[in-house]
Amino acid sequence: MNKIRFIAFLTMGLFSPVAQALTFGTVIIDPGHGGKDGGCVWHGLVEKKLCLDTALRLERLLKAKGLRVVMSRRSDEHVELEERAVIANRYSKAVFVSIHFNASKDRNISGMEIFYRSDSGKTLARKILSSMDQNLIGVNRGVFLGDLSVLRRTLMPAVLIECGYLSNRTESQRCGAAAHRQRLAESIASGILGSRS
Ligand SMILES: [Zn+2]
Repeated sequence: MNKIRFIAFLTMGLFSPVAQALTFGTVIIDPGHGGKDGGCVWHGLVEKKLCLDTALRLERLLKAKGLRVVMSRRSDEHVELEERAVIANRYSKAVFVSIHFNASKDRNISGMEIFYRSDSGKTLARKILSSMDQNLIGVNRGVFLGDLSVLRRTLMPAVLIECGYLSNRTESQRCGAAAHRQRLAESIASGILGSRS
């Protein structure tokens, strides 16, 4: 990105209009990876398992609040990225929330970040991350525009949450604890609910 475009990009972020509330009654929860695709593996933790566990906790919380929840997978199975979007795109008045855990060669990096691709996705990303930031221990790394397959292919407001870096020893210990994943699910749920009009 050249300098002028970069400044324009920053300015857009600073002066974008106040986010609109979203209208939806269905949440598509997409636990990352699964089956032959384990995702990242660090400190004895396998990403696909943490994604599914957090997603199932989130499902219970959202259903208890009266939302319809659709899961792109509910077990350790491999679902192609295209198929995840096909499942999601069957529903209208829905939002799409993909759950992942992160890793980096730099083991000092830690924190939570959320990717979006559309304005409505950005609204959802900001609400969820601010709830996570208020309720969880961990660095708030921000929301980022990301041209990721599931965000590009889904037709509704969509986000991909990176719940924490498994490559960071302290954060991996946190993410490995069921109590932390419950708090993760609770804070994601309240962010989703807070984005509704
Ligand atoms: Zn992942």
